[in-house]
Amino acid sequence: MIDYHIHTARCGHAQGEMADYVERARELSLKEVGFADHLPLLFKQDPTLTMRIDQLGEYIQAAESLKKEFPDVEIKTGIEADYLPGFEDETARLLKSYDFDFVIGSVHFIDGWGFDDSRYIDGYKDWDIYSLYARYFGLVADAAKTGLFDIIGHLDLIKKYNFKPDADITPLVKGVLDIIKGAGVCVEINTAGLRKPVGEMYPGTDILRLCFESDIPITFGSDAHKPEEVGKDFDLARSAAKEAGYDRLVVFNKRVPEYIMLDT
Ligand SMILES: [Zn+2]
Ligand SMILES: [Zn+2]
Repeated sequence: MIDYHIHTARCGHAQGEMADYVERARELSLKEVGFADHLPLLFKQDPTLTMRIDQLGEYIQAAESLKKEFPDVEIKTGIEADYLPGFEDETARLLKSYDFDFVIGSVHFIDGWGFDDSRYIDGYKDWDIYSLYARYFGLVADAAKTGLFDIIGHLDLIKKYNFKPDADITPLVKGVLDIIKGAGVCVEINTAGLRKPVGEMYPGTDILRLCFESDIPITFGSDAHKPEEVGKDFDLARSAAKEAGYDRLVVFNKRVPEYIMLDT
């Protein structure tokens, strides 16, 4: 199994040393562990959300030196980048500053509103929830189309606080999956949702089945913000993948994807 969504203390809301995350991955005998800390936000600086731009080089160097410190663990250097409409060129420039193994593209903001941040949870009151989901999935589709990202992060993050529309969102989801498939982007099974009010993985099992039907490849991520969260609930993630029909996952080397069997 692989864990391709690991944060570091640089983001201001994660704890522990990077080496402790790798130790945990080794304890769990993960096949690969991929750091994917938050790329600096380009529209504002918030030390509780991401590293500063001047820390990016040091983050990469720290990941590289862990590869020497832990020769028996396959460590990948990735990044989680926000999709911010209007900032595509600047995002591309930052992502080109290093040869990352993989780039996760995530939508955490809708017109500057950090909808997954408990400090701004009041914002949900201003929305009809179905329209909010439509807007969110529209942004995810746009993110996939940019070509900036290899993996869509926590595909249905908008459900985090358990605000769910009454109407069926399947048509919305199918629309976005068509675009993700067309763009050749993967989706991650992210177990962090199990630790959030919604109490479900991202994506949920219904959407995961639609991902399989659309032939969209998957990776796995715990979204660990503490060393003990590495590989968390991966037994559940693996069974969800199998139940959806998957028998393979994707690993990346310098942004080149390769399939491996789910059970390796
Ligand atoms: Zn985070
Ligand atoms: Zn995220």
